[in-house]
Amino acid sequence: PAPGTPLLSVQNAVKQFGGLRAVDDVSFELRAGEILGLIGPNGAGKSTMFNLITGVNPATSGQITFAGQDISRAGAGTIHRLGLSRTFQHVHLLPELTLLENTMMGGYARGRAGMVQSMLHLERAEEAALQHEALRQLQRVGLGAQAFDLAGNLALGQQRILEVARALVADPTLLLLDEPAAGLRYGEKQELSALLKRLRDEGVTILIVEHDMDLVMNLVDRLVVMNYGQKLAQGSPAEIRENQGVREAYLGV
Ligand code: ADP
Ligand code: MG
Repeated sequence: PAPGTPLLSVQNAVKQFGGLRAVDDVSFELRAGEILGLIGPNGAGKSTMFNLITGVNPATSGQITFAGQDISRAGAGTIHRLGLSRTFQHVHLLPELTLLENTMMGGYARGRAGMVQSMLHLERAEEAALQHEALRQLQRVGLGAQAFDLAGNLALGQQRILEVARALVADPTLLLLDEPAAGLRYGEKQELSALLKRLRDEGVTILIVEHDMDLVMNLVDRLVVMNYGQKLAQGSPAEIRENQGVREAYLGV
């Protein structure tokens, strides 16, 4: 889609877990070519929102459309094939495998249970193509030289970048990142931030959940703020900094 046109639209999304509304009537849009930050205190519903968008959990009600298609009831595999990739809040790498093998995992769009199955059934030509693509993405994120090292030997900052490479193998139009900078050192955060800006400039639209306000404010084009499952505010970093409701509920000032 052309830059600036709506790519993802979340309308009145609700996710109920028993008596808890983890996501409570949230609506927002993501435009092609932007980096949108989703912020809010712990428990605000950010990861749950990611799970609704990626089809990990279906929404209780509401509508989510991606690239013009209603994905509200679509499964995770279907949504992934439409061009939406994610990373998880906690590292999901296989430390005993190489960077290349970990990156190739991003090409099996079946979820974890079906993954080993699909690896075993891959034709040799498909496997070679996937390996080639994985190597290309490792080079794109600056990890090409370590392709045959074990993922478990990487520093945390590089593991996070490896997760991005794995998500890129599916050639997504939209990349969802759940707290990619958590636990990283300052230099690692700077490196990750620079990579995400470059990917945005290369045409990847990004939705990011992140707690580090310095990083978020210097990275994103717009922000959506959640609190207790609801959308509290949205706007540019400058607008959000000045928003009194956000300052009180979230920043505590
Ligand atoms: P955030 O990512 O913003 O920290 P979450 O989306 O993880 O918040 O959680 C929002 C709320 O929903 C929390 O109160 C959490 O305990 C609850 N929650 C999340 N997932 C589940 C689940 N699978 N079952 C029950 N409650 C859940
Ligand atoms: Mg979370």
